[in-house]
Amino acid sequence: MKIQIYNTLTHSKEEFIPIDKEKIKIYSCGPTVYSYAHIGNFRTYVFVDSLRRMFKYNGYNLEHVMNITDVGHLTSDADTGEDKMEKAARKEGKNPFEIADFYTKAFMEDMQKLNIDMPNIISKATDNIEEMLEMVKEIIDKGYAYETSKGIYFDVSKLDKYPVLSNNKVEGQEAGARIEVDPEKKNPYDFAIWIKAPENHIMKWDSPWGKSYPGWHLECSAIGRKFLGKHFDIHTGGVDHIPIHHENEIAQSKGANGIIPANYWMHCEFLLVDGGKMSKSLGNIYTLKELKEKGIEPLAYKLFCFSSHYRNKLNFTFDGVKAAQISLNRLREAYLKHKEGNNEIEESIIKSYENKFHEAINDDLNIPFALSIVWEVAKENNKSKDYAILLEKFDNVLGLDLINSEKYNKVDIEIPENVERLIEERKIARQEKNWVKSDEIRDKIKELGYAVKDTANGMEIEKIQ
Ligand code: AMP
Ligand code: ZN
Repeated sequence: MKIQIYNTLTHSKEEFIPIDKEKIKIYSCGPTVYSYAHIGNFRTYVFVDSLRRMFKYNGYNLEHVMNITDVGHLTSDADTGEDKMEKAARKEGKNPFEIADFYTKAFMEDMQKLNIDMPNIISKATDNIEEMLEMVKEIIDKGYAYETSKGIYFDVSKLDKYPVLSNNKVEGQEAGARIEVDPEKKNPYDFAIWIKAPENHIMKWDSPWGKSYPGWHLECSAIGRKFLGKHFDIHTGGVDHIPIHHENEIAQSKGANGIIPANYWMHCEFLLVDGGKMSKSLGNIYTLKELKEKGIEPLAYKLFCFSSHYRNKLNFTFDGVKAAQISLNRLREAYLKHKEGNNEIEESIIKSYENKFHEAINDDLNIPFALSIVWEVAKENNKSKDYAILLEKFDNVLGLDLINSEKYNKVDIEIPENVERLIEERKIARQEKNWVKSDEIRDKIKELGYAVKDTANGMEIEKIQ
């Protein structure tokens, strides 16, 4: 079955044609490890997880590389400001290497909690200094860079086209608010590929230009080339990478290798909070740990991500993730019920579900639609092991760890105190067989936005959407 993916490079949905059908080569921009990754970051890694799993579902082998930015990532993408790693180190009284190690470990643990299918190679920027220096030298030799008192700058005017991904106009645009004016730069959009370190800078290496360190964009060009070669299939990141990081990565790779490194550039849209940007200064950044403290499992957050296509913005609300937690609990129950079912299901029915699911995931990773097929199967009245097996197959793409459903305890949803009180009153009414009162209380609870269901296991409560 054909695979269609959206390519930011051509601004269109295209049929995916691998360079080598034996192995698809993917590069993903990894995290900057100076603090805990937030749930917005993880939306992008959940997208990459689905992408990997979709290709595997289609029978492909993958060679997938991700970097860890553990050096020289300055405060803004535009290479201005203070080094985030060193700032965090000062704040926490550690050295930047310790900071990077600590948050890399935390990141990996969170990835595991999300049941993310990990890239084959994860490589730290600091393990690739030699490769980066080599690339800088090549770029200079080929005439694409020049030296200033601050470092080595890439000369964007030497390229046939810049930018290539975004619609930013370079010509006629004054160097102003977005780009720091540096009189030594030939063009405002020139960017540092190698930076001469000030005396007090901690992370620095010997180079032909003295103690210095790499510009942020360089690591992805160098690590990609080292492990995947000059030309590979897919490059991924978040949409914020389009205008600067990926433009500059393409520029450098074209400078060194003469070609755009990847055929397809895929970007995950942002997770918003209350319709706006997630930012530390607004205090609206959440981690997986913070969700867990509110009774939301990481896998429920993953399911929440599936409620929107990766190219659409997704608005985070606590009600939204709580609903996802309830849905996850239900999906696990439905799977377990099917597992115990003895009905036989016609092969044509199974095949039809499989086809619909497969078409959805191959259509630019339409996980929300694929999920609706999963729910159709889950809700089938004929309980059957065949359906359980089908759900397990679908879960190879979703990665919700359905096969271990029994292991997960239901995570309780936070219920307001007044609703709790009514629930207790209703329990007593029911013990007293006062059905009228029980129904009255159920209606009151409903008015407060919660639905009560009486099941064989007792009363179940859930928020009305
Ligand atoms: P960083 O650690 O800042 O380099 O970001 C790691 C990844 O998370 C990058 O691919 C970003 O594009 C992505 N990212 C950052 N913020 C968000 C967000 N709010 N929603 C989705 N992805 C994001
Ligand atoms: Zn990158």
